Amino acid sequence: MATESWVGTIAENLERLRGAIAAAARAAGRDPGGIRLIAVSKTMPPERIREAQAAGQRLFGENRAQELLAKSPALADLDIAWHFIGRLQSNKARAVAAAATLIHSVDRLDLAHRLDALWAGGPPRPVLVQVNTSGEASKSGVEPGGLTELLDGIAGLPHLSVEGLMTIGPWTDDRDAVRAAFRSLARALAEQRRHDRPRAPLSELSMGMSGDFEIAIQEGATLLRIGTALFGARD
Ligand SMILES: *Cc1c(COP(=O)(O)O)cnc(C)c1O
Repeated sequence: MATESWVGTIAENLERLRGAIAAAARAAGRDPGGIRLIAVSKTMPPERIREAQAAGQRLFGENRAQELLAKSPALADLDIAWHFIGRLQSNKARAVAAAATLIHSVDRLDLAHRLDALWAGGPPRPVLVQVNTSGEASKSGVEPGGLTELLDGIAGLPHLSVEGLMTIGPWTDDRDAVRAAFRSLARALAEQRRHDRPRAPLSELSMGMSGDFEIAIQEGATLLRIGTALFGARD
């Protein structure tokens, strides 16, 4: 879907987006109810998030710790949940883990250890593991070849539950390359499910953004991370 076509109000964009998600799901033979939309609100001021919430959006995503930690208290009166979708430094893990209900971007064992220590004494908390499916050096995420080892390591941490995998598609207009990346994440999920690890339901696939969410839905996405198509272009 061309980004230029998203020029309406947030409520209009949200309605249109929901329609497009449902249509893509049905066309792929999937239940639209199995796909959740995360409104990526990075760079957007709190008023825009209030507007989206008033239009019925409940899940919001931020990729910078500082921004999440500024916005979440400012919007504490709203019935919304935050997901953290960016690279997470271990020294920010405590604050981010307190503000976000799901971290999509666990990509290394030392971060997993840090979260496990933070959550000691409570029930296991959900996380996603980010995989670099595109091979682009600028992208974070564990290399596909290191996924088994990382998940084996996390399996020894009793306070983490690995709900699924996350990836960012390659920056390209080549739809086949985007599809190949999403498909490789779906395959990795299926393959990793065959390992019998504790606390690893591995049922979520976080993939698909404004420009590629329809392909992601075709390839099995359960969590879409969409900013521009909802809020308009970022400055
Ligand atoms: C910004 C961002 C998105 C949303 O991108 P859009 O193209 O604006 O929909 C999704 N995921 C991550 C990790 C991001 O940083």
